[in-house]
Amino acid sequence: MHKIDIELVEMTLDVMKYAIDRISHTKPKVGKPQKAEELKALVGETVTPKGIGGEYAFNLWKQHLAKANVPVDHPRNLAFVPAAPTRAAVMFDLVTSASSIHGAYWMEGAGGIFCENEAMKWIVSLTGLPEGAFGVFTSGGTAANLSAIVTAREHWREDDTYKREKGLIITSIGAHSSIKAMAKVADVDIMLVDTEEKLSGKALRETIDNLNFHQRKRLFAVVATGGTTNAGIIDDLEGIAEVCDAEKIWFHVDAAYGGGALAADSVRHLFNGIERADSITIDPHKWMFSPYDCGAVIYRRPEFAKKAHSQDGSYLDIFKDEGAHGFNPTDYQIQLTRRVRGLPLWFSLATHGTDKYKESVERGIELAQIAGKMIEEDPNVELVREPSLSCVLYRRIGWKPEDYTHWTYENHSKGFALVTPTKWKNGDAFETVSRFCFINPDTTEEDIRMILDTMA
Ligand SMILES: *Cc1c(COP(=O)(O)O)cnc(C)c1O
Repeated sequence: MHKIDIELVEMTLDVMKYAIDRISHTKPKVGKPQKAEELKALVGETVTPKGIGGEYAFNLWKQHLAKANVPVDHPRNLAFVPAAPTRAAVMFDLVTSASSIHGAYWMEGAGGIFCENEAMKWIVSLTGLPEGAFGVFTSGGTAANLSAIVTAREHWREDDTYKREKGLIITSIGAHSSIKAMAKVADVDIMLVDTEEKLSGKALRETIDNLNFHQRKRLFAVVATGGTTNAGIIDDLEGIAEVCDAEKIWFHVDAAYGGGALAADSVRHLFNGIERADSITIDPHKWMFSPYDCGAVIYRRPEFAKKAHSQDGSYLDIFKDEGAHGFNPTDYQIQLTRRVRGLPLWFSLATHGTDKYKESVERGIELAQIAGKMIEEDPNVELVREPSLSCVLYRRIGWKPEDYTHWTYENHSKGFALVTPTKWKNGDAFETVSRFCFINPDTTEEDIRMILDTMA
């Protein structure tokens, strides 16, 4: 399979050319999904006993399939949490793939894992966690949250009193859906404090005080959010840390989206208290300009994670080679075989320097402030709440939910922009509103202006 022949060289050059082309386009097409049946009709059978040939398959990709994706890095893609991987990171993602590195064990992936760990040291330094804290790259925030929840639960259950108890977690309704989903996976119950605004230490205190004896016994962790996905709200981490400390429960901060903002001096104070967390989730593939997929979980005491997650690779002990012994990423999260997915981030950090990251995150925050001002000055729209981090929630005066849906569809089908509505809790009801989330530093004021104009 590895015989170098002309055809293979040509194919490689074609693929490289395509990749270079895609990386150098700062404004790719917005892209539009199509039904599976339509795609099938366009491309026909592609997986066949004899194969259809690389050139033909690649052409199908370019002509039809690539266009049915919605690139997350378009400067007018402000939906959900978009992304904007740096070119350096994307290039090194190619290198990561080409290098075939098994990233579970130091023995096989020392060079790659070393680089990952250098990048991780910077991320950990942003949190302010004490000496000894460390983390590992995961497939995303979901896997990071699961890894942290399982670590917390296993640590709690080391005490015989809790061995046969089903655990309980407290978080708020502003928490990301993955917290609820992963609680299910870990078979722990979850209690939601009913606020989409900032979860305060006081509200947490009251919730705990209202637990019955058995519930209190089962409570082993609190999950705070460091930048809610919907609105960029950062919980009262200091107040929550205080309560967790007093109650001796695990304090997890889910900063999958907001974590990048730890690098931004203008908002860093909002995260005060994060340095008291037992574990933290941060997604470099959200606001640290990494390609998918790259999440991270960080522990104050990594040895607890090792106890919970190590798959006992005792066969590793047979290696005499001194160099084979080092940090094994598999020990600290749920996955065994893994891509060294922090490697692209390392190359990008090494290329650009951390100041550039700081500036690029600040730009997202600035764009949210700029959008907020434009909305205030525009008679057709109004802010639902002050912009927070890089999220802006606003309403078009007089619009019903279906107007937002139609507006999103129109802008998207024209290939102009992707801006999606969301729901915001307004009293007891949920209101449909519009939402911007800025990540891409190449988004301009003009982009925002043009989008708002389509609401006139
Ligand atoms: C996006 C997000 C997640 C889930 O992360 P994935 O990388 O999509 O698995 C979890 N928590 C928060 C706060 C998020 O914004």
